[in-house]
Amino acid sequence: MAIKTDIDSPQFVARISELHTSLGIAPGYERSSGLPLQHEPTVLADAGQDMYGRDQRLTPEALSAWQQMRDAAAAEGVELCLVSAFRSVDYQAALIRKKIESGRSLDDVLRVNAAPGFSEHHTGRAIDIASPEDAPLQETFENTRAFKWLQLNAGHFGFVMTYPRGHLHAISYEPWHWCFQLDQ
Ligand SMILES: [Zn+2]
Repeated sequence: MAIKTDIDSPQFVARISELHTSLGIAPGYERSSGLPLQHEPTVLADAGQDMYGRDQRLTPEALSAWQQMRDAAAAEGVELCLVSAFRSVDYQAALIRKKIESGRSLDDVLRVNAAPGFSEHHTGRAIDIASPEDAPLQETFENTRAFKWLQLNAGHFGFVMTYPRGHLHAISYEPWHWCFQLDQ
């Protein structure tokens, strides 16, 4: 399945700015967060269902790399579970709005969710990975065999951990978040 989504343009930048205003995010997020603007891809492929039975999508290149990596891990007896892949700018905005409406502070939410337009999940190249050994999206993922396998092998498949411990972006340490790099 392929869909058409936004590409980089002044309209895209204006749309992000409008979304930020509507969520109460102060101007200058790009500077204050240290995060780059992320663009939605023009083509997405069906990546099957995640561990919750939700349909997921990735760019064709990232999908192929993910499938090869998952199969290579499985061949060594290590299960890699897909938690989340492509997320649109609108999805990210709705997610943040829902958390704010449930009573959480914006600062609190923005420590775990990048502002709309700045999540690597917009690119269709980022994946959140879990292990059957642990609950998903916890720092304790770093203690699983899946994480140890990824540390040794993910680079061979073009995947890099974007938010390692001690990094300087606005987002917390995320050992489960891996992004397929285009320049490999
Ligand atoms: Zn992620």
